[in-house]
Amino acid sequence: MSTPADPVALARDLLRCPSVTPVEGGALALIENVLKGAGFAVHRVVFAEPGTAPVENLYARIGDASPHLMFAGHTDVVPPGAEKDWTHPPFAGEIVGDTLYGRGAVDMKGAVACAMAAALDHLAARAGAPKGSISFLITGDEESIAVNGTVKLLQWAAERGERFDHCLLGEPTNPAAMSDMIKIGRRGSLTGKLAVQGVQGLSLIHI
Ligand SMILES: [Zn+2]
Repeated sequence: MSTPADPVALARDLLRCPSVTPVEGGALALIENVLKGAGFAVHRVVFAEPGTAPVENLYARIGDASPHLMFAGHTDVVPPGAEKDWTHPPFAGEIVGDTLYGRGAVDMKGAVACAMAAALDHLAARAGAPKGSISFLITGDEESIAVNGTVKLLQWAAERGERFDHCLLGEPTNPAAMSDMIKIGRRGSLTGKLAVQGVQGLSLIHI
């Protein structure tokens, strides 16, 4: 029986990559190396638009059958601010006791590491051949203006003929306790016109 993949070590290594949007910071290279080692076909895709910085993204897949489970996520993080304000350096990946510290530990390198470890364990248990397909759709453009990330990567994947049956995204939303909420979507916006029928009011100020 093979040794289980270590999600803590993977998360720590990801945290040591200074991947502040739009910089890749070594995070996608790390994921590429790990997944290639497990037999995934890995694509590094760069998207750009006038007025925006080019951003690196990653798509990896193993297997060619359905069902196709896709893990989505991002490796970029928001700027850490002044390092002196941190108890532990933002990109050191320090472990103290049972806590791993670093910018992006929760949002969302920890989840990406867990997804990778789960996939690696599954593949090891099945001698490297998944039932169906497993893929990773990882962007480096989520925390900033997010125009060269997931939407373009999904379009790119669709043009390649990729079809997904299920998607799991470990973006953290736990108001009270870990794993207390599962969502089927993310924030969005709605624009509309509101017409109100009635009589205009008049305010009087007595002085
Ligand atoms: Zn996030």
